[in-house]
Amino acid sequence: MELPMKVVVIGGDAAGMSAASQIKRRIKSAEVVVLEKGVDVSYGACGMPYNIGYKGDIDDLVVLTAEDFKTKRGIDVRLLSEAIGVDTKSKKVFVKSLSSDREYELKYDKLFIGSGAKASIPPIDGVDREGVFTLKILDDARKIKQFIDEKKPKKAVLIGGGFINLELAENFKRLGMDVIVLEKLDDILLNFDKGASDLAKEELKKNGVEIICGVNIEKIENDLTVKTDKGDFEADIINIAAGVKPNTEFLKNSDIELENNAIVVDRYFKTNVDDVYAGGDCALIYHRILNKNVYMPLGTNANKAGRIAGANMAGAKEEFAGIVGTIIFKVFEKGIAKTGLSLKEAIDNGFDAFETTIEAPITAHGFPHQGKVSVRLVAEHDSGRLLGAQIFGDAEAVWRIDVVAAALYANLTIKDIQGLDLAYSPPFAPVWDPILVCANQAIKKVKK
Ligand SMILES: Cc1cc2nc3c(=O)[nH]c(=O)nc-3n(C[C@H](O)[C@H](O)[C@H](O)COP(=O)(O)OP(=O)(O)OC[C@H]3O[C@@H](n4cnc5c(N)ncnc54)[C@H](O)[C@@H]3O)c2cc1C
Repeated sequence: MELPMKVVVIGGDAAGMSAASQIKRRIKSAEVVVLEKGVDVSYGACGMPYNIGYKGDIDDLVVLTAEDFKTKRGIDVRLLSEAIGVDTKSKKVFVKSLSSDREYELKYDKLFIGSGAKASIPPIDGVDREGVFTLKILDDARKIKQFIDEKKPKKAVLIGGGFINLELAENFKRLGMDVIVLEKLDDILLNFDKGASDLAKEELKKNGVEIICGVNIEKIENDLTVKTDKGDFEADIINIAAGVKPNTEFLKNSDIELENNAIVVDRYFKTNVDDVYAGGDCALIYHRILNKNVYMPLGTNANKAGRIAGANMAGAKEEFAGIVGTIIFKVFEKGIAKTGLSLKEAIDNGFDAFETTIEAPITAHGFPHQGKVSVRLVAEHDSGRLLGAQIFGDAEAVWRIDVVAAALYANLTIKDIQGLDLAYSPPFAPVWDPILVCANQAIKKVKK
């Protein structure tokens, strides 16, 4: 009798649990073991800033517990179990139980690595003080909530001006704190254009959040005062969100190929080693517009990677169509969204590109509520092929980015977009949707 396939999955969040579930769905007899070094699996990390701000129960973010996976899906989830090494020749994972300190080996037929990423911590003296946090896994949010409950901080300093700290700024404000964001670069929201970052800064300022860019942080004092070249900032709580780094140290002695610490995969999420797959924040992912792998650590990507890798590990041959790089987030009453490439990214990648930006109402003329949104389309001069878009303005209107993401996926041109039959009704959109208004302007710059 054939022995059941043994699968080991490293990491128990979006990518890992998607892969494990997909394998079990397709091969009931497979023995699937998930190693998770933390105490949670399958949680919605993206909801953490709001869970903190709205004082939700942290367990509301857990989709299924380790016990649920065991009883409902037959998956052996081992918490507090860290993968400390992989030998791809003998097909073994070396495991350390963090509850007992015991070390053991697990044999696999197929291995999925979904070990995610950790927050990058800049080399600043004092980052290890009590009251200095990073927010990446569910237990980080649990610790921040506990600290807020016990210490009742009134002043927050957020180091790093990316979307995670901007979401946190809104939610710390919701809890009544004074909030300052310190950014090392000259502007917040690296990867977004100036229009989007200007709107975010204006909205943050309107809501009492101070933003200081071009700051060099010298140290964090014992009392959490942040000393910088632009003055001292008192804090009761600090969060650092300055990018992430793939969790791949345990692979350093293996023959699994890494690029800038991220695992290199093909369009089936297979690594360079047979029977070893990877996906999510620890790995690269194929970008359709750039036609190459990129590092883009997002929940949408991690779920898709895990699902497709799981199917392929179970014997399917599913090729990943690729991401187009869609992202959206809220800053108080405004929303900021991007898909595809910015003009700079397009030019840097060799495209002869242009951009067109318009600002337009989001409801019909005469409708009582008159919000606004900016739409920026990036396209190729010659062919008019769409390359990217940014949409920013009133929060309820920026979902339109999904229309452009679909257009990008389908390789549409500005001319095609002009012809899209987008919905119209006064409370939802004007008769010329802002995307169509922008396409009508952009077409004038298309050469052919
Ligand atoms: C505050 C915040 C807001 C976000 N908002 C959004 C959003 O709005 N939209 C979006 O698309 N994305 C968002 N993201 C990103 C998204 O959460 C991540 O891309 C996603 O969680 C990645 O899933 P993953 O499974 O690859 O990795 P992770 O979620 O990092 O999970 C990896 C797991 O592996 C475990 N692990 C690591 N090393 C080992 C080891 N050696 N052995 C065993 N276990 C190990 C870790 O403990 C962890 O539980 C947000 C992230 C944060 C932090």
